[in-house]
Amino acid sequence: MEIQEHVPLAPYTTFGVGGPARWFAHANTEADVAEAVAWAEARDLPLFVLGGGSNLLVPDSGYTGVVLQVDLRGMAKDQPSFPQFWVGAGEPWDNLVDFAISTNCAGIECLAGIPGSTGGTPVQNVGAYGQEVAQTIQQVRVYDRERHEFRWLSHADCRFRYRESLFNTTARGRYIVTSVEFSLTPGGKPTLTYAELRERFAGKPEPTLGEVAAAVREIRQSKGMLLVDGDPDCRSAGSFFKNPVVSLEQAQGVAAAAGLRLEQMRHWPAGDGSMKLPAAWLLEHAGFVKGYGEGQVRISSKHTLALTNRGGAHYVDVLAFQQEIVAGVERKFGVRLEREPVTLE
Ligand SMILES: Cc1cc2nc3c(=O)[nH]c(=O)nc-3n(C[C@H](O)[C@H](O)[C@H](O)COP(=O)(O)OP(=O)(O)OC[C@H]3O[C@@H](n4cnc5c(N)ncnc54)[C@H](O)[C@@H]3O)c2cc1C
Repeated sequence: MEIQEHVPLAPYTTFGVGGPARWFAHANTEADVAEAVAWAEARDLPLFVLGGGSNLLVPDSGYTGVVLQVDLRGMAKDQPSFPQFWVGAGEPWDNLVDFAISTNCAGIECLAGIPGSTGGTPVQNVGAYGQEVAQTIQQVRVYDRERHEFRWLSHADCRFRYRESLFNTTARGRYIVTSVEFSLTPGGKPTLTYAELRERFAGKPEPTLGEVAAAVREIRQSKGMLLVDGDPDCRSAGSFFKNPVVSLEQAQGVAAAAGLRLEQMRHWPAGDGSMKLPAAWLLEHAGFVKGYGEGQVRISSKHTLALTNRGGAHYVDVLAFQQEIVAGVERKFGVRLEREPVTLE
């Protein structure tokens, strides 16, 4: 395995900011993963795992340790009637969506068009348009950096929640995902729980998995949420803020601050009497509308929740813009937004 030096990282991310990695390696096999970890440990260097760089911001100073891009490929399935799919962590996620549809298996069709690697999906329990990967992940194969061994983590071990898992909370940095096993539904029907999708197919015969995936990609493109060459609105890291989960009283306070009753704004129960509120709504009602901003970092002209790099942005510009929005929303609604993308540190 080759270890490169001083590799610019911005091109490895969809946002396109940040400095170089002091050391950089690609892992094409599990042996490469173990070797890279041993190489970093022998030199007492930190190691960061990179997938497709679609949920990642890199500081302008770059990274002084080893960046390991996990690039293990391959997708396998047994008999047509079997639900299991085994997928290498470096396989682009959308390839798996297409593979599942080509074998007529349901369960991830609404996640079409999400950028990044398959190994990145369990990390923040990727979700969109009524599905999330936690619904279909059976187990995750990892290299355990504490025990120095490969092992499988069960679905329960992964502790999936909204945009959360073991991998980005209690065991952050401990596991390197090398492959993922999914259990899909052969011959299953597409999920049509998301209002925008249901409306699209209202009054029409039941759509196929492929038609639903195509509709999702179309909607995503109209929002700059599909990576399309030449579209400045997709130079982003996807949704920049998580939908905040607040108490019922706080949710009522938010509605009141906008001159509404809670029933008049979108909200979803989030367990234990708490409520999830739409971050995009909070931004818009605090004055941060589509296209907002004058510098190199602005809100997408197609999607309120996506901060975009309009060219030549630096990480510090992203931070300043993020702070402006967080402070503005907190001033107006008393809710502190949390960022969704990870910082390489
Ligand atoms: C235009 C656009 C639209 C998006 N839409 C959505 C959406 O609808 N829903 C959604 O949930 N997300 C969305 N995202 C965010 C992003 O695509 C997902 O979070 C994706 O799963 C990140 O995967 P990645 O391989 O790019 O991870 P990276 O950005 O490379 O890394 C993100 C984190 O995962 C870790 N990681 C990555 N690979 C591994 C591995 N093999 N082992 C261990 N840790 C790993 C990294 O260390 C880092 O902490 C969008 C992003 C963009 C740019």
